[in-house]
Amino acid sequence: MKEVMMIKNGELALKGLNRHAFEEALMKNIRWRLKDLGKFTITRAQSTMYVQTDDPYVDYDEVADRLSKIFGIAAFTRAAFVEKDMDVIKRTAVEYMANILPDARTFKVNARRSDKKFPLTSPELQQELGAELLRAYPHLRVDVRHPEVEVMVEIRDFGAYIHANQLPGAGGLPVGTSGSALVMISGGIDSPVAAYMMAKRGLLLHAIHFASPPYTSDRALQKVEMLCEKVSVYAGRIWFYYVPFTKIQEAIREHCPEEYFTIIMRRLMMKIAMRIAKQQDLGALITGESLAQVASQTIAAIAATDDVCTIPVFRPLIGMDKNEIIDVARKIDTFDTSILPYEDCCTVFTPKHPKTRPDLQMVRDNEALFDFEPLIEEAVEQTTRKLIRSVT
Ligand code: ATP
Ligand code: MG
Repeated sequence: MKEVMMIKNGELALKGLNRHAFEEALMKNIRWRLKDLGKFTITRAQSTMYVQTDDPYVDYDEVADRLSKIFGIAAFTRAAFVEKDMDVIKRTAVEYMANILPDARTFKVNARRSDKKFPLTSPELQQELGAELLRAYPHLRVDVRHPEVEVMVEIRDFGAYIHANQLPGAGGLPVGTSGSALVMISGGIDSPVAAYMMAKRGLLLHAIHFASPPYTSDRALQKVEMLCEKVSVYAGRIWFYYVPFTKIQEAIREHCPEEYFTIIMRRLMMKIAMRIAKQQDLGALITGESLAQVASQTIAAIAATDDVCTIPVFRPLIGMDKNEIIDVARKIDTFDTSILPYEDCCTVFTPKHPKTRPDLQMVRDNEALFDFEPLIEEAVEQTTRKLIRSVT
């Protein structure tokens, strides 16, 4: 018996004329993510995609796990794929349902036949297969209205598919179909969640991180790379940009009033991120800010950072509570890494009394006390990048 993954697209179906492009992108992403697990063929018919392989050693649990993390898939089903022979179908159904039916009380069989040459009609198929399953699992009762398990058998051109429960997909849109953006990633809890949420809306991610050695350690950097790796389980490959930020932070400390440190630092980060975004043709920035979570995330502070931005800044967490953010962080397995205690460049130079309602003109004036432009240029020049991916 072979297994097949049957995939239902989510919002894709709504995209009308673009549908073809979206499906192509999804198929490409699926192919990429399964590449190291075997040789798969991906086909589509009506609104379903089929992922199949002749490889006898494929780990279908791993395939299912990977599929559950690919955006653009609303739901998917593991199905047994066999020849269109009634005896084989019956035998396979009994065997394939062995991990579901023993725990169920009621079931029904639903048959669909697109190959009209198959000798049994759909009602006949339902009856025969239902009777066979009752013989194998005599504790069961048929309930046609509200069965706990609905066993499906589909007779199609190339064979018969037998399946039961649908598994939930990751939802969203295929990565890449909404363009590309640059996520500002720190070692905290929030930015990896923000990255995940925007990848879910179909953005291909690049990530930028500012570090200030020796105030920040190698381990802090490794932690951020590890976070990107975890995000890439969902978001696919991520270009990671590392910006040396020490000189700029030291200059801020030396030349600007302490209560403006954070806000000026954030503006300079934005300026650098925008230059990288323009170089790489990325359409937006993404941050993990949440309104009023900390002093630099008030309306006035956000306005002061947006003041230097000429491309959209997406802040998907803006209306979320910390607990809601943590729930997502746990779900995508970034939480435990995020709470590792390494110093971040923001925490190293945190002022004792940051301005929560900075006056925009004051911010600009205080930033103008020093000409940061040469240091910004140097930081952009010294930025290095590498490709991060969870799956090779
Ligand atoms: P996080 O949990 O993501 O660290 P935070 O609540 O600690 O966020 P801030 O430190 O104010 O908030 O940072 C706000 C946002 O600015 C972060 O979510 C991130 O997008 C960006 N950011 C902060 N520090 C860095 C950094 N060192 N490198 C890149 N981006 C950063
Ligand atoms: Mg932080």
